Amino acid sequence: MKEIWTSALAGIRARVTDENFSTYFAPLRLVRVTGDSVDVEVDDEFFRDWVREHYQGLLNEAVSAAAGQAMLVDVRVAERRPAVSPPSVIPIVSVSAVTPAPVPVVVSGGAQASGAELMDFPAFPLNPVYTFETFVVGPSNEMAHAATLAVTQDPARAFNPLFIYGGTGLGKTHLLHAVAHGLRAAQPNLRICYVSAEEFTNQMIKSIQRQRMEAFRDRYRARCDVLLMDDAHVLAGKERTQEEFFYTFNALHAAQKQIILTSDKTPQDIPQLEERLRSRFQWGLITDIRAPQFETRVAILQTKAERDGIDLPDDVAFYLAKLMRANVRELEGALIRLSAYASVRGRQLSADFAHEALRDLIENRARTLNIDSIVKLVAEHFDVKVIDIKGVRRHRAISHPRSVAMYLCRKHTQSSYPQIGRGFGGKDHSTVISACRKVEHALEEDHTLRTEIEALERKLPG
Ligand code: ADP
Ligand code: MG
Repeated sequence: MKEIWTSALAGIRARVTDENFSTYFAPLRLVRVTGDSVDVEVDDEFFRDWVREHYQGLLNEAVSAAAGQAMLVDVRVAERRPAVSPPSVIPIVSVSAVTPAPVPVVVSGGAQASGAELMDFPAFPLNPVYTFETFVVGPSNEMAHAATLAVTQDPARAFNPLFIYGGTGLGKTHLLHAVAHGLRAAQPNLRICYVSAEEFTNQMIKSIQRQRMEAFRDRYRARCDVLLMDDAHVLAGKERTQEEFFYTFNALHAAQKQIILTSDKTPQDIPQLEERLRSRFQWGLITDIRAPQFETRVAILQTKAERDGIDLPDDVAFYLAKLMRANVRELEGALIRLSAYASVRGRQLSADFAHEALRDLIENRARTLNIDSIVKLVAEHFDVKVIDIKGVRRHRAISHPRSVAMYLCRKHTQSSYPQIGRGFGGKDHSTVISACRKVEHALEEDHTLRTEIEALERKLPG
C-alpha cells in the first residue's frame, strides 16, 4: 500500500522542480490507502487548500499511475499534530510548540536562517512560474513591470510603497511573486513576507482568538524585510485589520523596509478605507496594469504555448487573442482547454478547429451579449434603472451610465450607431456617436473610469 504512495511521489518528483517537490510534496504524510483513496495529512488548513488548489490533479494522476487504476488523493488536516514532525526538506509546516497558527507567509529562509526562524516563517508557496522571465511586457503593463523590477534591484530605495492596481487576471500576483523570486535569488537572507490582505485578516483574527497578537505583530513588523501584500482592496471595511495594518505599515516604512501592495482599485477608490491608510498608500509610486492589447495577448499566448510544449500556429493565436480580451487568466485557460481538446480528439490545433471547439462559447456570447444585456449590467453596476438609461433625463447620475452603456454596446456588439440609438429608446445616431467619443476621450485621462469599464467588461457574458 505504502508502495503506491512512494512510487507516486517518485513520479511527481520527476515532473516538478526540486524546490517545488520539497516545498509542497515532501511534507505530505501518508495516512492510509483504502479502496480507491489515498489519504494524506498536512498540519494546517492553508497548506491543505493550497495543495488542493494547485496540485490535486497531479496527485490524482500520480497515484492512479502508480496503482494502475483510478485513485483519488484526499488531503486533510491532521487532527492532532505528531509529536515530532517527520523530516521534510523545508519545514514548511509550523511546529505546534512554536506557532500554533498556520502561517502562510513566505519567507525566504536563506541558508543561514536559524531553525527557529524557519519555523516561525514557513515558506509560502510561491508559484515557480510567476517570474520576470515569464512575464510578457507590453504597453498595458510596462510601468508596473519596470517599477517592480526597480524595487527588486533596489528595495526600499526606488519607491516605497509601490502600489499596483488593475483588474483581475492581469498579472498583479504574477509580478509580486516575481519580485519575491528575484529578491530571493539576489539576497537569500532577506525575509520576504508575501500575504494576501484576506490572509492577513484571517491570521489576525486567529491571533486574537489565541491571544497571540504579540507573535503576529512581531512576524510582520520585526521579522519582515519586504512585505508584499496582495489584493489590498480586501481591507475595505475591515476596521480592526486596517488599524493593525496601519501600524505594520508605519513600522516597516520607518525601518526602510520595502512594501508593495496590489489592489483592484486605486487607493482613492477603495471604499471604507481609513484616510490615514489611503494617504500612506499614496506616499510612493502608484501604477496601473491594464488589459493587454492584441499584440501583447498574442505574445502571452505564444510564450505560454512554448513553455507548455503546445504547438500553436499563428492564426490560432490571433483567433484566441481576438476572442478573449479582458483577462489573461481566461486567455491562457482557453489555450489550455483548446490544446487538451485537440489532443483528446487527435486533431491538429488549427483556426478551424478552434472555431469549431469554441463555437459554444461564441454562440453563447452572441446570444447573451446584446444591447439589452449590456444596459442591464450597466444599470445594475451604477444602481440606476434600465428605464432611466433608455430614457431622456440628462442628470449626470443617469447620463454617465448611459454613455458608458452606449460605448460598451459599440465595442462589444456588432450593432451600428443607429441600431444602438434604437436600442436606447429611439435616440439619434449622432447622440450615440458623441457619447462613445466622450467616453473614449475620458478613458485616456481618467484612471477611475478605465478601471470601472474594465470591471464591467469582465462581467460581460462569455
Ligand atoms: P491578478 O493577480 O492580476 O488577478 P495573476 O497575476 O493571477 O492576475 O495573472 C493571471 C494569469 O495570467 C497568471 O497565470 C499569469 O501568469 C498570467 N499573466 C498575466 N499577465 C501576464 C503577462 N503579462 N505575461 C505572462 N503571463 C501573464
Ligand atoms: Mg491576484
